[in-house]
Amino acid sequence: MSKAVLIDTTKCIGCRGCQVACKSWNDLKGYKTAFSETWTNPVFLGNNDFTRVIFREATKPDGSLHWYFAKRQCMHCSDPACASVCPVGAMVKMPEGPVVYDDSKCIGCRYCMLACPFGIPKFEWEAALPLVRKCTFCAERQALGLAPACVATCPTGTLLFGERDTLVQEAQRRIRGAPGKYVNHVYGQNEAGGTSWLYLAGVGFGELGFNTQVPKEPLPPLTWNYISHIPHVIAGVIAFGVGTWYVTRRQELRPRPPAAPRPRPRVEKEDQP
Ligand code: SF4
Ligand code: SF4
Ligand code: SF4
Repeated sequence: MSKAVLIDTTKCIGCRGCQVACKSWNDLKGYKTAFSETWTNPVFLGNNDFTRVIFREATKPDGSLHWYFAKRQCMHCSDPACASVCPVGAMVKMPEGPVVYDDSKCIGCRYCMLACPFGIPKFEWEAALPLVRKCTFCAERQALGLAPACVATCPTGTLLFGERDTLVQEAQRRIRGAPGKYVNHVYGQNEAGGTSWLYLAGVGFGELGFNTQVPKEPLPPLTWNYISHIPHVIAGVIAFGVGTWYVTRRQELRPRPPAAPRPRPRVEKEDQP
């Protein structure tokens, strides 16, 4: 059985407790941030943020304006494109649900970043030994029988942790049980072949900034179909990654001056989660 989280965005109050809990549990560095024009903060997901809460003012079906908040993070796809393209098996889907990253295997090719349909993996561009960074689904907490830190912290019950099959049924029960409250769509039930993070919303997911063009079928066969036609690109990517790894490891073995303070993480375009 695979674990999942159901996010009922109609219950979220935008307190960002989940963001703080994630930072704290994962010991992610803080940095100076600014509000976006929609009050989303940080404006962009960076390599020291595994999650952030999107703020959106949206029009309800009855024409009234309403604030919506949507926590975003890795979707932990059932059949993840990031894992399918990783040439060294650094990204792995666990039977329990999390898609985990093994930094000791990573060669820095960043192909996972290109393959992810949700724009999730980030790279430590400024680090001496850069790694890929993303939400872990708190796999280490789950192994201890604990819920993810963000779920455990949410004060409104927006985040519900449990078996995926049960949560899909619960989402559909809520849609049936409250006509007009939700759009008739559980985001993540079928997107990219299904994901471990599922969403309910009171307005269309496009209005909340979600990618509504993600195919419904699993992406690895499509991704492979694409990259299999460009083997020279794969070879180039792998060669570049191996070269980067070799140079970096050699530099690692040299004596180093004391580490300088880390700069603010590089950020990417806001529409990504
Ligand atoms: S959302 Fe992206 S990074 Fe996360 S499991 Fe899916 S493909 Fe991988
Ligand atoms: S599951 Fe863990 S790593 Fe992922 S957003 Fe929640 S607290 Fe952060
Ligand atoms: S902790 Fe819960 S209510 Fe607060 S922002 Fe996160 S999901 Fe929303």
